[in-house]
Amino acid sequence: MKKEVPPTAGLPLHWRDFLPSGKTLEQGLAAFLGLPEVQVECSGTAALVVALTTLKQGSTRTSVVIPAYTCPLVPIAIVHCGLKPVLCDLQPDHFDLCPQSLTQVCNADTLAIIPTHLGGRVADLAPVLATARQVGAYVVEDAAQALGAEWLGKSVGLAGDIGFFSLAVGKGLSIFEGGVLVARDASMRQRLRTTSAGIVPGSPYWETRRLIELIGYAMFYHPLGLRYVYGNPLRSAIKRGWLVEAVGDDFGFDIPLHRVGRYRKSIGANALSRLPQFLQQLATQAAPRQAQLQAIPGLHVLEDTPGGQGTWPYLMLTLPDQLARDAALHQLWGAGLGVSRLFIHALPDYDYLRHLFRDAAVPNAREFAARMLTISNSPWLQQDEFNQSCSGIAAVVVRD
Ligand SMILES: *Cc1c(COP(=O)(O)O)cnc(C)c1O
Repeated sequence: MKKEVPPTAGLPLHWRDFLPSGKTLEQGLAAFLGLPEVQVECSGTAALVVALTTLKQGSTRTSVVIPAYTCPLVPIAIVHCGLKPVLCDLQPDHFDLCPQSLTQVCNADTLAIIPTHLGGRVADLAPVLATARQVGAYVVEDAAQALGAEWLGKSVGLAGDIGFFSLAVGKGLSIFEGGVLVARDASMRQRLRTTSAGIVPGSPYWETRRLIELIGYAMFYHPLGLRYVYGNPLRSAIKRGWLVEAVGDDFGFDIPLHRVGRYRKSIGANALSRLPQFLQQLATQAAPRQAQLQAIPGLHVLEDTPGGQGTWPYLMLTLPDQLARDAALHQLWGAGLGVSRLFIHALPDYDYLRHLFRDAAVPNAREFAARMLTISNSPWLQQDEFNQSCSGIAAVVVRD
């Protein structure tokens, strides 16, 4: 049987995680992140909804500034809260917000700015914090893909006013769907708790469904099972040219909001005890591979901002142009080697988001979407398999 490497390095569950242990996810995460307390929600998107609903109270401001290249669930959450997503272009060849674009789009109506620690890479928050201070906006750090990443020795999510992590499939620690809210300020944490108690109901339907999905995930998340639940559907979507579906960017506007059950949280808490060692293993594997990619002329491998120590779910790189990137993907995407794309488009280029972002001029975000690809940092990706991807990419860059 042929193996399949997942596009990101998720922490595999163990059957023992399903035994009741009395551990609580909130306490485990608080200790892991170095905080007195954290708040668990049913998804990263739900965590963002709770955050924005909280900030909106007592403010007349209506816009939320986001990177023009990020998860489509971010503008969907903003719209859900009755707020207006406003796009900020990226820095050239990077996922960081462009400081000039940021000062242009921020004003007295800006409720919050959402910088993003994409793919475990620590974003440059200094210009964001400065602009936010100038216009009186909050900063909500999107650390959905960066649980365990640090900036200046502290967890990401604590430099701004609020931070959130995702516990969805493929984002490191997973309870199939889940989210974590953090805030450095105790009164903000109190406000977040109050909002959640007010807007998030219990739902036996959703909790049962997520538990069954989590069991399915635990059963299939290994190099043989992934062929059936990930690889084969992926290849069939690519063959049809359904790229948005291929990476799972086909989101609807309905956001499930429900409490996460104690049992599912205890499964996450049990797995969490293996996370520090797992993240260490990933960092050790990523460092030489990152250097190996950097040695290929024409490639740009994304790094952490100074002072940042990120996590390594995958390596993120840009090629010199879209032609080269597409040629590399043509060979490698769907080959079972963990080569993939992140979000397919800049936000205005999704059909289902177009109405929100008419005429948005975000050339750097579009360039980034067109020239980037990712290589999984799963421990299941053997060195010879990684070398195969490197040679494939080197060949198209040189030919170009
Ligand atoms: C996945 C993701 C989200 C949303 O998190 P969910 O847990 O899937 O709702 C938000 N932002 C980014 C950058 C993400 O990758």
